[in-house]
Amino acid sequence: MTARLNIKKIYLKGQAKADEAYNVRNIGREDDLRGGNAGARIFSVKTNKYKSIGKCPRTSLLRNLGIDDVKDFSTKLMFDGGFGSEDYLMDKLAHGHDGKFIPEGEMVCEWTLPTGRKVTGTPDGILADDDGNPVEGIEAKCMSSGYTVIATCLKKQPRVQHLIQSAHYSMTLDIPFQLVYVSRVNYEIGGHMYNLVRGHERAWFGYNKDMSVKHMAPTMSVFLLKWDEEGRLFYRHSSIKEWTRTFVTKASITEYYRHVDECISNGIIPDKITAKSATNTYTYSECDYCGFKSACKAYGKASYEEWLEACKELSSN
Ligand code: SF4
Repeated sequence: MTARLNIKKIYLKGQAKADEAYNVRNIGREDDLRGGNAGARIFSVKTNKYKSIGKCPRTSLLRNLGIDDVKDFSTKLMFDGGFGSEDYLMDKLAHGHDGKFIPEGEMVCEWTLPTGRKVTGTPDGILADDDGNPVEGIEAKCMSSGYTVIATCLKKQPRVQHLIQSAHYSMTLDIPFQLVYVSRVNYEIGGHMYNLVRGHERAWFGYNKDMSVKHMAPTMSVFLLKWDEEGRLFYRHSSIKEWTRTFVTKASITEYYRHVDECISNGIIPDKITAKSATNTYTYSECDYCGFKSACKAYGKASYEEWLEACKELSSN
């Protein structure tokens, strides 16, 4: 009997090839820092120390060195779902927008650090006027858990990593940005989640016959970003008028990349994430979902070389 094809194996091989093609297509030189790994480094006068927020600076350094986070099959599938969701959204925006639409990869955000290293990134899409002048940038995210739906739709809190990534593109391209979350599934509401959604607007839910909440219905949640004259970031959910002031400034985003660059150049282990919220934003502990957790735990305070070796080992497994 002929051996049957191993679909999972073929899928994973195809995914690795697609990732490689994506990087070649969308990302600049290999030693660039990536706009998709954005954060902010904020100086606290109270503690006389910097605190980092957004994407972990250590993972940004590792990515620059080509050391990829270890992702299990489920996480890879979830990431694929995110890419697919982004493509569907951009396709509809491209068809619905009256002006021109600039797709991912056609407008690259790029700037140079004092050492000469570049920071490069590609926003998901840009809505432009009829002449092709950019009007508004779009960063798309998929809501892959019921908790994300609750945070972004009901509490109207964007995830801090996504907010800073969008802010970084906005400041580099000098155009306003909107961060768009989309959910395409019914998230069942049961157990303690029922208490989290109690009292929120009915429009977000699907109902049982007795009108008890059955699920969070597929939906879209949009956040608008803006800067004040001092370069401080504000955001608001599209359904409310009030802007939320954040700790994030243009200078703190620049400082984040300067710090990662300095650590790469001098062989220093970068900061961990030391601040979780940029005021009314939500996040989870990145370390809990990071494949380098054991390396940071064992070698985070040891030498750079020992830590790096441990991360490489984990990445290659
Ligand atoms: S384990 Fe935590 S500190 Fe270490 S690289 Fe991952 S997110 Fe950063």
